[in-house]
Amino acid sequence: MAVPFYRHALSPACSERVAGVLASPFLTSGPQGARVEARLQAFFGVPHAKLTSSWTQGAVATLLALGIGPGDEVIVPAMTFAATANVVRLVGAAPVFVDVDPATLLIDRRQVAAAVTPRTRAVIPVHLYGQMVDILALRRLLPPAVRIIEDAAHCFEGRRDGRRPGQDGDAAIFSFYATKNVTCGEGGAVVTTDPDLAAALVQTVLHGMSAGAAQRFQGGTYRHWDIARLGTKANLPDLLAVLLEPQIDGIEAQLVRRERLCARYEAALADTPFTWPVIEAGAVSARHLFPIHVPGGRRDAVLQALGRAGIGATVNYRSVPSLTLYAASGTIPDLPVSRRWGEGTLSLPLFPDLRDEEQDEVIAVLRAQIPAIEAPAIEVPAALRREEPALV
Ligand SMILES: *Cc1c(COP(=O)(O)O)cnc(C)c1O
Repeated sequence: MAVPFYRHALSPACSERVAGVLASPFLTSGPQGARVEARLQAFFGVPHAKLTSSWTQGAVATLLALGIGPGDEVIVPAMTFAATANVVRLVGAAPVFVDVDPATLLIDRRQVAAAVTPRTRAVIPVHLYGQMVDILALRRLLPPAVRIIEDAAHCFEGRRDGRRPGQDGDAAIFSFYATKNVTCGEGGAVVTTDPDLAAALVQTVLHGMSAGAAQRFQGGTYRHWDIARLGTKANLPDLLAVLLEPQIDGIEAQLVRRERLCARYEAALADTPFTWPVIEAGAVSARHLFPIHVPGGRRDAVLQALGRAGIGATVNYRSVPSLTLYAASGTIPDLPVSRRWGEGTLSLPLFPDLRDEEQDEVIAVLRAQIPAIEAPAIEVPAALRREEPALV
């Protein structure tokens, strides 16, 4: 039985919502997006939300709005999707990588504190796999001027100690990419409690213009716009925004299904050599992904076996400093927790509508790989072993 890595839950019935936008004069950002932004403000308990065309564009707009650029440093974890670091490069600043905690795979707060220099303008903690970083604890370790920009691409519904993304950081950025827990194909959002950042974002998501397309004709007469700062083009059209609202309504029910599936994986794999991240007391994970670690250098072999059996599995992620763009700079120190996790991890199919028999198939194929993982390495007789020259 083939099992896809992800199956989205949007249906042709959504086309009625899109048709509603097509019947209105507004195709790009307008009243539908504004409704969703109000929903996001209520959901996250923050006064400002801005829909964006992706996490990446939302992050670029946020960094521009904070005036972060050449000469500045931004601290990022080595274990994340490359976009977390790429956006820092895109605005001309320098990403500074730190390692992650071996149990949770979340950014190591002490290493963040140790990496702060006079050039540090921000940290981008990543709520990896859906588990929120302890933002209040991170804040206590940082100088007040250092901004916290939460990468909440995996963490729409996750929370920690009753706090949600965006409440304690300077901003939290979400992704509505095709495989994320809430999706409109491509999209994102920035939420913040900071009125100055919110005001600047309105401009940096739209070229840096002083008045958006929706406001230009306000009052019936044309108003000139100006560009006083550099912006990107990051706004989300209503055609896509209209798909989000029903998913926000249903997100808690979906989380219950994700949690049940994760508990099934954990029970079925408890007696195996596979391991997975620890979820700390007080954290409610959004359960975006179910990654495991395959020991013994067998990750790629297991990935291939899953692939041959028709099971969709991916790698989230190889450590960012190991990717050619970053490795080629030759200046990033070894961050062993991220490197080792990145060399051994793979993610299993996980989505609310995954059927039990599909999940059982994934588990069976995975368990069939265990003998090969546990087989002892072939012993080379001492007589054939070439003596390594002693290093002195
Ligand atoms: C998906 C993802 C992003 C990028 O999101 P886009 O909307 O595709 O730009 C950034 N960070 C993490 C951790 C992600 O998983």
